[in-house]
Amino acid sequence: MRFSCLFRPSSNGNEGADVPIKRRTLLKGLIILGASLVPRVFGLMPARAAEAKRPFEVTKTDEEWQKMLTPEQYRVLRQEWTEPPFQNKYHDQKEKGTYHCAGCGLGLFSWRQKYDSGTGWPGFWQPMFSDAIGTRTDWKMLYPRTEVHCARCGGHLGHVFNDGPAPTYLRYCINSAALIFKPSSARE
Ligand SMILES: [Zn+2]
Repeated sequence: MRFSCLFRPSSNGNEGADVPIKRRTLLKGLIILGASLVPRVFGLMPARAAEAKRPFEVTKTDEEWQKMLTPEQYRVLRQEWTEPPFQNKYHDQKEKGTYHCAGCGLGLFSWRQKYDSGTGWPGFWQPMFSDAIGTRTDWKMLYPRTEVHCARCGGHLGHVFNDGPAPTYLRYCINSAALIFKPSSARE
């Protein structure tokens, strides 16, 4: 059985909140919702498609990735597998520290933006740096989702949904296997 990071039922009713800085992000979310009703509106997202074709700074052959990653990390990062909810390392972790890409070590998320989404996967309302992650539209399910990957090596991390908490109202639903946690006390 293939587990999947699905839409979480919205309970906060914040879709209409006034957050001008994130208007573009909210607009993306609305486009995605619209696209789920009227599939195949690829034309609305040309910028994202172009972004996904950019070469990554860290590239390796499939064989090299298999050698350096654990089987679980490889399945998630390189084959876009979704790990089971609640049976993963960081879903309920609250410790201070940063979460790095298990493929290339790039800092992706901080404990400061982590929250309990109740889904069984680590949830963040924002990455540490906006250019640390890339996104593209994922059509594996019957509706489109926004896939999230490491901007440096292209490793698959999870998906982002627009049902998160303030101030972004985004939920980065990330696989623990794609991350390496570094406690604050251990940071160089
Ligand atoms: Zn990476």
